[in-house]
Amino acid sequence: MSRPVQYNTHIKFEGIPEGYMGEGFMATNLEKVVSMARKNSIWPLPFATSCCGIEFMATMASHYDLARFGSERVGFSPRQCDLLMVMGTIAKKMGPVVRQVYLQMAEPRWVMAVGACASSGGVFDTYSVLQGIDQVVPVDVYVPGCPPRPEAILDGFLKIQELVNAEGLRRRYSDQYKELLSGYGIQ
Ligand code: SF4
Repeated sequence: MSRPVQYNTHIKFEGIPEGYMGEGFMATNLEKVVSMARKNSIWPLPFATSCCGIEFMATMASHYDLARFGSERVGFSPRQCDLLMVMGTIAKKMGPVVRQVYLQMAEPRWVMAVGACASSGGVFDTYSVLQGIDQVVPVDVYVPGCPPRPEAILDGFLKIQELVNAEGLRRRYSDQYKELLSGYGIQ
């Protein structure tokens, strides 16, 4: 004799895509499922060159714990990561390296400029410092602060998740996106 299934009514599921749900099944569209999976399994590539990188270490550690958002798998191979996090002062000599790392990442890829230096050069308004990484790669989210606290980095990360979740599967093939990349000399 089969026993009735006991559901725990105290468990709440967040971020379930809209759809039609019944006992033991759910119907929704593929785009929403892919977006949900991408959003909750972002693999960051930390490109840390100076002090902001220390804030990132705190963000990854147990107190702030970026792993709660599905991103404990930090990678150092661009080909397997989908979020480039640039943290620190980027010298003009380093600009082509940031760009090369970006080019080695597979689509879809996102970029976060963490802190004043990566976003705008910060206090280093000098001949040798790149005045923002958006001069060499397109940036999706800028995190303000010198340095930004881990809460600010987490906030930026949540904004990236929102973008990932809202992005349609066809965006990367759109003329608008191709135009954005061609503005950076990327085919
Ligand atoms: S923004 Fe401030 S803390 Fe971050 S790398 Fe630049 S100088 Fe250092």
